[in-house]
Amino acid sequence: MIYFDNAATTYPKPEAVYNKMDQFYREFGVNAGRGAYERAKKGAKLIEDTRSKVASIFKAGGDKEVIFTPSATIAINLILQGLDWKDGDVIYYSPFEHNAVLRTLYKLEENYNLVLKEIPVNNLTLEFNLVDLEQMFASEKPRLVALSHVSNVCGVIAPVEEVVKLARKYGGSILVDGAQGAGLVPIDLSEVDYYVWTGHKTLYGPFGIAGVVVDKKATNLTPLIYGGTGSASEEREMPIETPIRYEAGSSNIQAIAGLNVALDWLEEVGSKEVFEHEKKLTLKLIDILAEFMDINLFIPKDLDTHFNVVAANFSGYKPHEVGKILDEKFDIAVRAGLHCSPRVHEFLGTMPNGLVRFSLGCFNTEEEVDKLKGVLDSFLI
Ligand code: PMP
Repeated sequence: MIYFDNAATTYPKPEAVYNKMDQFYREFGVNAGRGAYERAKKGAKLIEDTRSKVASIFKAGGDKEVIFTPSATIAINLILQGLDWKDGDVIYYSPFEHNAVLRTLYKLEENYNLVLKEIPVNNLTLEFNLVDLEQMFASEKPRLVALSHVSNVCGVIAPVEEVVKLARKYGGSILVDGAQGAGLVPIDLSEVDYYVWTGHKTLYGPFGIAGVVVDKKATNLTPLIYGGTGSASEEREMPIETPIRYEAGSSNIQAIAGLNVALDWLEEVGSKEVFEHEKKLTLKLIDILAEFMDINLFIPKDLDTHFNVVAANFSGYKPHEVGKILDEKFDIAVRAGLHCSPRVHEFLGTMPNGLVRFSLGCFNTEEEVDKLKGVLDSFLI
């Protein structure tokens, strides 16, 4: 199989990830942090070691804290449902947001008297209009800005630094959904209140471990989940100390072991090198797809603001038909449809069927991208 669905999850993982998960779970798969015996202590140590490796890959300073959650979706819910919303609070979000953000915002809008505003983006160049955004902020001050770091449909890298500056100027906090791009696409987190990441995508770790890098000043959230923390069990309330306040329940030690070794692998291979490899292949893929008259690409005009995801429309075919042909005839995995991001498809005019998405990963090769050219030649006449 040629796997071009790395935005859904990167696959395969580095061999060391599979090995470590198996080995660690066999040897130390007891309930970490829930016992004073050696193996439980070893698990607890691994959790803290992984926490500091996560902080280090994001260059998060001492003013930041890493909270673990089972997925980016849960991390986003932790933040959005944990903030104490006031009547009339204004939340800005980009048209690129995933349903993890959108559906949560829609529910909040229903439950509280919140105002949702979309960040202006040019739907041809896919460029953020920061001048108009500043005017919007000036007339309706943001309480929070939610921004997808890299779009899981168009691969657009959001101008995080510029938006952060504007949000700060007008008193808003900022949540960046880094599910796509975390660890590979450089970002300065110093002024970002909440940076959500997930282990199973660009960090090359397993499912089951994700989280948020939070500014310590912004940790005053209502917990999303209540339960055991292995500490102060006699108390009726959740502990006030973070991060355990937000990490009720047994830790997924197997996934944490996998993430730990994935972060070592990324450090060894080099995030920059992985980024450059994926970028190079993406440019090649764009060149190949652009050669076909029947293919229309949905990528930003400025390719410096683009990373590893290319969505396309094939005239004469519905996206799922292309996906089916590629899978059944050529054993190529892509993702067709709305990619859990309906707003961007409305914005691009690609509702209701969506697009065909090709997303590249570190283990894809030039040969695989070249092979796609031959495949497209054979069925696009
Ligand atoms: N945000 C974006 C932009 C995503 O692409 C995804 C995964 N498709 C998520 C959030 C949710 O991530 P997770 O699978 O870790 O819940």
